[in-house]
Amino acid sequence: MSRAASFSLDDVTPALLAAHDKPGPRYTSYPTALAFHEGFHAAHHRASLEQLPPQTPLALYVHLPFCARRCDFCGCNALVANQPKTFARYHRSLLAEARMVANALGPNKQRVLQLHFGGGTPTHLPHELLSDLLRELNDLFDIDPQGDISIEAAPETTDDDQLHRLRALGFNRLSLGIQDFDPHVLAASGRPARRTDVAQLVATARHLRFASINFDMVYGLPAQTPSTFAATLQRTISLQPDRIAMYGFAYVPWMKKNQRRIDAARLPTRDERFGFLAQAIVGLTRAGYHTVGMDHFALPTDDLYQAAQQGTLHRNFMGYTAHRTPVLVGLGLSAISSTASTYAQNHKSLSRYHAAIESGELPVERGIALESDDLVRRTVITDLMCHFAVSFADIEAQFDIDFARYFAPELRALDAARQQTDLPLTAQTPQRLEATPAGRLFIRNVCMHFDARLHKDRTDGPAYSRTV
Ligand code: SF4
Repeated sequence: MSRAASFSLDDVTPALLAAHDKPGPRYTSYPTALAFHEGFHAAHHRASLEQLPPQTPLALYVHLPFCARRCDFCGCNALVANQPKTFARYHRSLLAEARMVANALGPNKQRVLQLHFGGGTPTHLPHELLSDLLRELNDLFDIDPQGDISIEAAPETTDDDQLHRLRALGFNRLSLGIQDFDPHVLAASGRPARRTDVAQLVATARHLRFASINFDMVYGLPAQTPSTFAATLQRTISLQPDRIAMYGFAYVPWMKKNQRRIDAARLPTRDERFGFLAQAIVGLTRAGYHTVGMDHFALPTDDLYQAAQQGTLHRNFMGYTAHRTPVLVGLGLSAISSTASTYAQNHKSLSRYHAAIESGELPVERGIALESDDLVRRTVITDLMCHFAVSFADIEAQFDIDFARYFAPELRALDAARQQTDLPLTAQTPQRLEATPAGRLFIRNVCMHFDARLHKDRTDGPAYSRTV
């Protein structure tokens, strides 16, 4: 008998982990950024914005890349900068870019349901520049004050005063980059010492009525042990963030030079990493959190959990979101925009980003116009990542295909995989394919079956973090 029906985390053996541990995308998009190419440029992006129906609601992402210093474990597009003139020039370019985008969208202000300031460390930008940026964005777009207006803050540098000022600007959601509470783990990860008390920050944020407080946490960091991680989980639970993003540390030193400063000998093994994830699942669900998607946890009162319950959870470059906005506009260095049929990514070099803007051009470095096959696969993969299931009838209705015929090779491969194990990752009925409880842990591996570009867009070196 298959063990899938009575699954427990203890069923995940080292052999199973080894079998599924491979480089794979996190599917914040399909196709992934590896498929973007330089034949897609600013004119294509502008045309995709100009063609949007006027009432299309937007999500707006603003990338603020600057940090006071670079953490060793960081995988973000971040730059060390502390000079006022660097901040001022970036602020000018961002505003110019926002105006170009607003112009392309047409004479009426486009409605924005979700605005997120990410980084880098957005709160490293001087307050007057943040304030001016928000005012200008409100002039250019119809930003719904009841929508999600969120900002990432670093507990190393944020203080109560700053939270008051952010709330006064209209931010109503706060994401704190906690990563871990253990000072030795933070030091081994090259994270500066924490001067502020996170409990105090959370109390202030609650007092200020931020609608949702998120903690970004990381497992698999150097020097983490089961006991340090248990203490970190306990501390997290005691502070009751509304949501928790529990990311596996993506160790990619061939792509992120700053990670070469990490002592690889202090990194947990594959089995230990899975042990931390299992600890998080058990500890957080016992404490009243629900798992959402592949790496989030939320209290039942949080709208991310409610979206998951209602089947409206969505995934885009910002990760899981409760809003299904058809268009995401990314502003700033390296930011990615997505429309119904295109992706466009801005320059990753600061000088090229400024040069494009100063020559009056949208700062697009590369992108892609999606083919019809991409659109079908994007929907299948997004459904699996968000809902752990795909309904054949839904896909057939949206794309006028016969699912079983269109995906015959993929379904055959999944069937063969099921035959080879007593702990299958998927189950199939005539109506749908769904991830089993074990499959939810390896959902990236399940999605990879539907990724037609995985090998086509391959680069010379490993391009993705590992799936376990
Ligand atoms: S982890 Fe956060 S604070 Fe550290 S360098 Fe990266 S973006 Fe900056």
